Amino acid sequence: MLDKILIANRGEIALRILRTCKEMGIKTVAAHSTADRDLLHVRLADERVCIGPAPSIDSYLNMNAIISAAKITGATAIHPGYGFLAENADFAERVIDNDLTFIGPSASVIRLMGNKISAIESMRLAGMPTVPGSSGALPMDNQPYLLKTAEDIGYPIIIKSAAGGGGRGMRVVLNESSLLNSIHVTRAEAAAAFGDGTLYMEKYLISPRHIEVQILADSHGNVIHLYDRDCSLQRRHQKVLEEAPATDIPDNVRQDVYMACKRAAEKIKYCGAGTFEFLYEDGRFYFMEMNTRIQVEHPVTEMVTNIDLVKEQIRVGCGETLAIKQQDIQLHGHAIECRINAEDPRSFIPCPGTVEHFHPPGGLGVRIDSQLYSGYKVPPHYDSLIAKVITWADNRAQAISRMERALDEMVVAGISTNIPLQQRLIRDETFKRGGTNIHYLEQQYQTAEDTAG
Ligand code: ADP
Repeated sequence: MLDKILIANRGEIALRILRTCKEMGIKTVAAHSTADRDLLHVRLADERVCIGPAPSIDSYLNMNAIISAAKITGATAIHPGYGFLAENADFAERVIDNDLTFIGPSASVIRLMGNKISAIESMRLAGMPTVPGSSGALPMDNQPYLLKTAEDIGYPIIIKSAAGGGGRGMRVVLNESSLLNSIHVTRAEAAAAFGDGTLYMEKYLISPRHIEVQILADSHGNVIHLYDRDCSLQRRHQKVLEEAPATDIPDNVRQDVYMACKRAAEKIKYCGAGTFEFLYEDGRFYFMEMNTRIQVEHPVTEMVTNIDLVKEQIRVGCGETLAIKQQDIQLHGHAIECRINAEDPRSFIPCPGTVEHFHPPGGLGVRIDSQLYSGYKVPPHYDSLIAKVITWADNRAQAISRMERALDEMVVAGISTNIPLQQRLIRDETFKRGGTNIHYLEQQYQTAEDTAG
């Protein structure tokens, strides 16, 4: 087993990884930027190394600095968390070339899944149901082909960047008149944001839910699934509230998708924690993409399976065999996660600043993953996620009531947060009935804003 891991991330996920390392008896190195000296995990780590100035391009994305920090401190593995370099195949390759362990799948699998076009293609070949779409990259200079492909798929369609992520690099096109212009604008945006303007198009599903399947795999060919999550409550294609398991999906359809995920993971020789993301509409699943890392919403799966995903990720990352068998995993109860962001609850503009007072909720079935403490200063340079409130209970209705009281109890004074939005959502009668689609949150907001205005 590993002796020392360098955590190449920040915020709540760095702390989350550190906690598991401590429980496993593994020493930790916090690689942090100058803006993050006071982060909780930096204070709690066995060692800390400043890897550069505040902008992430100079620190959390600085491969040389991170690998040097591991070498200097004698760490033998790097955990990338999510975001930053977590799905960067070149980084995984360089970590391995430097005789370090990368806690994640192989660089070739990251590369395959990192490009949405090759990911969809390989999944289609593995027998996974996919959204009807263009085959391969769009030929930009072949206008008749572009128009014909969109017509064959049938409007509305969505244009997506092959290298996209974080809900960016996609555009919905309702009819032919705006197709070519939309393609050009999306290409320019994708080239600027991801350094790659390659696009593809697929059918835009009208009212799907976002359902995803968590898997774990080792390097000896063993794959297990850890059931599903519903992440349909989104704003601008970004998840706001997640839950496990997803409600109201026929059991045979669910089992089929789990089996398809297991087969696909075996086929690509996946190793580590991974997520297959799907759109679910009219009783059918359509593969969208695979995330080759731990996800923000992983705690809801941990709560309903009682499995520490980071621990298993580290174990299989070191070449160990999965200790858990499929039949050992019992699904119990229901879990919900609310993402708390430092942002204005109406405009959604990020609101960094000093947290004058932090009171996390507690009690039975409440878990808080957060870097906050009273006096902590949220820097303006990074993602606005500051806490995840997770509740667990025997059933969905109780998990919802527990979340209502947990959010009511939570105090983050000094900065604006989206707690009011989450309080409203969790009390929403339609949400309570379950099965809302990916547009629900935005539609509700629109209605409320219109009424207020
Ligand atoms: P990212 O990698 O940026 O997260 P995804 O491909 O996972 O992008 O898509 C993000 C979200 O965009 C989905 O959860 C869904 O809400 C919406 N979306 C993506 N593709 C489609 C589609 N074909 N039809 C309808 N909605 C879609």
